[in-house]
Amino acid sequence: MNDLYDILICGGGPAGLTAGIYCARGGMRAAVLERMSIGGQAALPENIENYPGYGHIGGYELTDKMRAQAEALGAEILYDEAVSFSLKSKIKKLKTAAGKEYAARAVILALGAGARPLGAPGEAEFAGRGVSYCATCDGAFFREKVACVAGGGNTAAEDALYLARFTKKVYLIHRRDALRADAANVKKISAEPKIEVLWNTVVTEIAGGNAVERLKLKNTVTGAVSALATDALFVAVGQTPNTAVLNGTGVKLNESGYICVNEHMRTNIKRVYAAGDCTNAHLKQIVTACANGAVAASTAIQEL
Ligand SMILES: Cc1cc2nc3c(=O)[nH]c(=O)nc-3n(C[C@H](O)[C@H](O)[C@H](O)COP(=O)(O)OP(=O)(O)OC[C@H]3O[C@@H](n4cnc5c(N)ncnc54)[C@H](O)[C@@H]3O)c2cc1C
Repeated sequence: MNDLYDILICGGGPAGLTAGIYCARGGMRAAVLERMSIGGQAALPENIENYPGYGHIGGYELTDKMRAQAEALGAEILYDEAVSFSLKSKIKKLKTAAGKEYAARAVILALGAGARPLGAPGEAEFAGRGVSYCATCDGAFFREKVACVAGGGNTAAEDALYLARFTKKVYLIHRRDALRADAANVKKISAEPKIEVLWNTVVTEIAGGNAVERLKLKNTVTGAVSALATDALFVAVGQTPNTAVLNGTGVKLNESGYICVNEHMRTNIKRVYAAGDCTNAHLKQIVTACANGAVAASTAIQEL
């Protein structure tokens, strides 16, 4: 076993990195454990317009600044995946995919969330062959082609706007008759001639040969079924928290799998805190993930 940390932070997105900054500044021996690349979901958007202090900034640039700040203040970054936790005793332990074991006096869970699948037949079969969950990552493969986006929130709207910059045509497929996206995004969507919104419509099947070629659609009001030729389907129908790893740990989750926290970011287990998109906190954004991370760290420091 490695030696003892004061605070181990699981997840290197905005919540975990901010917790790292606050823990390090609070004089704690702290490490941020990240299974993939630093920045989490926030590293994906090409342009962030709503993070205070920056009119426009790329997601990678913003989160890399957070990483640099956390490291400069003394937080360690460990690249590995937490695969099991033992959280109820005074000394918290976690095991990683690389076979390491870490111990700490407190743990902050900043596990974030990932894209929720659509659940349509063909989705798994065509994943990576036209079905994607990240327009910023895969959009460029569809230059001068036709792309569809399924969803009606901010991520779907931003994906459609991003794809419209270089694809021939974008269909935004939404099951309701109005978008849930912010007014600013709704305005941009209606001003973009390449985007056509298919209202009251759901994707019932994804079909093709080697790659996606068409979608089967159903109108939720009339029941009419139609086919739409497309090269890609970007799925943006919501999030699912990365909390499956907590099964059996005793950490209380709500019915949707989000970690239940109070206003101090405490979970139901002593000296186990949570922050950001993996929690039941209301707004899932960078600014709130950072705020949660700061509160979790500050509570943890006080309680140690
Ligand atoms: C395409 C897109 C565009 C967005 N645009 C904006 C925007 O413009 N403005 C805005 O404010 N928000 C935006 N968001 C939302 C924002 O990115 C999230 O709210 C924010 O990143 C949440 O931060 P987090 O740290 O809670 O979680 P995440 O960013 O999800 O980070 C969690 C991290 O934990 C890691 N992790 C998970 N499980 C483990 C494990 N077992 N072991 C180790 N590491 C683990 C993950 O790999 C991940 O890096 C966008 C999201 C997406 C997907």
